[in-house]
Amino acid sequence: MKKACKFCGSLNNASFEATERMFGLGGSFAYSECLDCGSLQMDEIPQNLGEYYQRTGYYSFLPLNHSGFARKVYKRIRMKLLLATQSKIFEPRDYGYWLKKLAPGFHFRIADVGCGNGQLLYELYAAGFTDLHGFDPFMEKDQAVNTSLHLWKKRIEASDGLFDLIMLHHAFEHMENPVEALQACYDKLKPGGKLLVRTPVTDAAVWKEKRAYWVQLDAPRHLIIPSVTGFQLVSQSIGLTFEELLFDSSAFQFWGTSLYEKGFSLDLKLVEQHFSPEELAELEKKALLYNQEGKGDQVCFFLRKPL
Ligand SMILES: [Zn+2]
Repeated sequence: MKKACKFCGSLNNASFEATERMFGLGGSFAYSECLDCGSLQMDEIPQNLGEYYQRTGYYSFLPLNHSGFARKVYKRIRMKLLLATQSKIFEPRDYGYWLKKLAPGFHFRIADVGCGNGQLLYELYAAGFTDLHGFDPFMEKDQAVNTSLHLWKKRIEASDGLFDLIMLHHAFEHMENPVEALQACYDKLKPGGKLLVRTPVTDAAVWKEKRAYWVQLDAPRHLIIPSVTGFQLVSQSIGLTFEELLFDSSAFQFWGTSLYEKGFSLDLKLVEQHFSPEELAELEKKALLYNQEGKGDQVCFFLRKPL
């Protein structure tokens, strides 16, 4: 029997099969593509899903990379300058572009849902933020890294208090139910609080062209992948205010998908073998163009809980 789209409720969908490619584990996983809103969902969640995370090198299990005193001073000055000036030259490479849009205060109570090993929150701590909370049920145990940074082995639903800012960095697509996931964020936000959701989207040209070879399909770890339309429908139904959308895809969509097409797993050594530095630079440029045209393979959704 056909299941309703978890984003728009439509029964109008098409089935396809995908296999585990990141580690080359194989297997066959059935997904449905909504023919109305374009979102994807896995049909049956495997019982042994945890096994697909418990691989050496999966990000959640890496130790935290700590900053020394001088590094922290540098990061704090840079963050103050970034938030004061919004200037690109002060952006930390991986997170400056979205952080400056959120413009959080240093005392904001900030949650990172699906925080992995907590490295991003650690960077925010090193940059001067003082009330940081990471949530990840896959974590080994609760951990107070310092007085400003706590990592919790639980879901945000089970936490105390409300947050000024909640972020999901490539965590949303690992969840089973988009309505429950966003409702939990809504419930845990203070009125006027901000929500950032970074996720792959099916508006991607690479998905439309390469289908099950798309590197960010990532079966069976990705259980849902929204279209921009599908995501907006769910967030509106919950009462979140949609503020802005920013495509932030990278060359990864091209070289990762190309490795999968050639039958390889996601081995970083292969990237150097198959792509010259010049080719990789060209692919980065192509990704920037795709982002401007709204056909990159991932986005930042900026939302807010109304006052
Ligand atoms: Zn749909």
